[in-house]
Amino acid sequence: MGDVLCAWCGAVVGQSEVDHSHGICRACYRELLRIPDLSEEALDDLPFGVIILAKDGTVLAYNPAEGALAGREPSAVIGRHVFTEIAPCTSVREFQGIFREFCEREDASRTFQFTFHFPAGSVRVQIVFLHRGADVAVAVRKRTDPAA
Ligand SMILES: [Zn+2]
Repeated sequence: MGDVLCAWCGAVVGQSEVDHSHGICRACYRELLRIPDLSEEALDDLPFGVIILAKDGTVLAYNPAEGALAGREPSAVIGRHVFTEIAPCTSVREFQGIFREFCEREDASRTFQFTFHFPAGSVRVQIVFLHRGADVAVAVRKRTDPAA
């Protein structure tokens, strides 16, 4: 068996920590749980992507790190519908389906891996959904581990 890496920061973590926090180390998970409490200005300063989505999929906030990852201007994305207009590749069970499920549940977070298919190419990412009032914060981090 090889090392188990944190799905967010890539640090080597113990097996028990992985079981506890869905593949993300405790330090990262604590930080992620704070995202819903951050102001939009603070979201803009984060080194990883954050999208705030209304339950109907409308983009309410889109930080510069996500803009850089996706090759988009945040101002051109806000107010539009993510599944139909912005990222049709997310309009699948593995993303939109999980999103809908998450919206109906009380779970603090939902973590999964996904591959965006942007015009400029595919990007493998780690996704974390968090409730932010009636909305959902989507944290996005590019995966740096080699493709399996
Ligand atoms: Zn970590």
